[in-house]
Amino acid sequence: MTAVHDTRGSSIALSVVVPVFNEEEALPALAARLRPVLDACGEPYEVLAVDDGSTDGTPGVLEDLHALWPELRIVTLRRNSGHQAALTAGLHRARGAHVVSIDADLQDPPEVIPEMLALARSDGLDIVHGVRIDRSADTGFKRRTAAVYYWLMRRLAGTFVPAHAGDFRLLSRPVVDTLKTLPDQQQVYRLLIPWLGFPSGQIAYRRAERVAGTTKYPVRKMILLAWDSVTSFSVVPLRLATAIGAFSLVVCLAFLVWTLIVYAAGSTLPGWTSLIITVLFFGAVQLFCLGMLGEYVARIHTAVQARPTYCVARDTDEVPQ
Ligand code: UDP
Ligand code: MG
Repeated sequence: MTAVHDTRGSSIALSVVVPVFNEEEALPALAARLRPVLDACGEPYEVLAVDDGSTDGTPGVLEDLHALWPELRIVTLRRNSGHQAALTAGLHRARGAHVVSIDADLQDPPEVIPEMLALARSDGLDIVHGVRIDRSADTGFKRRTAAVYYWLMRRLAGTFVPAHAGDFRLLSRPVVDTLKTLPDQQQVYRLLIPWLGFPSGQIAYRRAERVAGTTKYPVRKMILLAWDSVTSFSVVPLRLATAIGAFSLVVCLAFLVWTLIVYAAGSTLPGWTSLIITVLFFGAVQLFCLGMLGEYVARIHTAVQARPTYCVARDTDEVPQ
């Protein structure tokens, strides 16, 4: 939803957006580490915890934290809309001059936030990516799939995509305002934000283990993110379909010549095997290419529907519009 909030006159220097989905165990630890870091900055800030339709005790834990921590703002989504949609909700509502997004599970160290802010200010940067230099705390499976993901994205989308930069980053107000003008679609921010082309820098950090609870990114969601990334930033799969089509045309022509030769030689009776193989092969190729087309048609379909990617049920710090 492209919620437009008035940020003029806002004196908040920093907003921290935290997408939260079933993180009742991690939240107290997050607050205990994040709050001292932000308090020490000595500037007005807000922390937007975007509750992405949690079904565990998360809402209660957030309420308890909110009672003791006035800078904590709770934005509750009506249902689980996914990590990127929760980020969108947070970015749309954040009021700070800079906005940092960070996961709730403390895999990204909050202590890096002041460093990001200092780097953005000293070097006049609009974007500071947190780049994971050491992922030894992640599982071997996660590391390998992440390596393939970033390799593929840099090949397909372009080398503007910084490798191993996830969703821990700092954005300036102009970047956030630019993002707010984009049509409401399922965004893949780790590709979209570098693509905007604002001056950007990086800060390396070690990715820690999840402080509590289990990953909220099962393989199904990882595949969805990867597929969204590919289809929203690359038409290579469509070109692949064309290439496969062209290749099968050549194979088809070769078969044609061969059948004519066999016909001319007068021995046309045997041929059942080659016939079946040909029918199956081209059936498969056609279905594959159709499927590929379908994936993009599906994206167009979703875009045309223009449904909001998230719906906000409540914001503890609602700005009158
Ligand atoms: N998350 C979310 N909605 C979802 C899935 C995840 O808001 O549908 C949040 C989650 O609470 C966490 C962040 O997104 O703050 C990243 O998720 P997680 O740490 O489970 O992913 P991983 O680090 O395992 O890739
Ligand atoms: Mg995590």
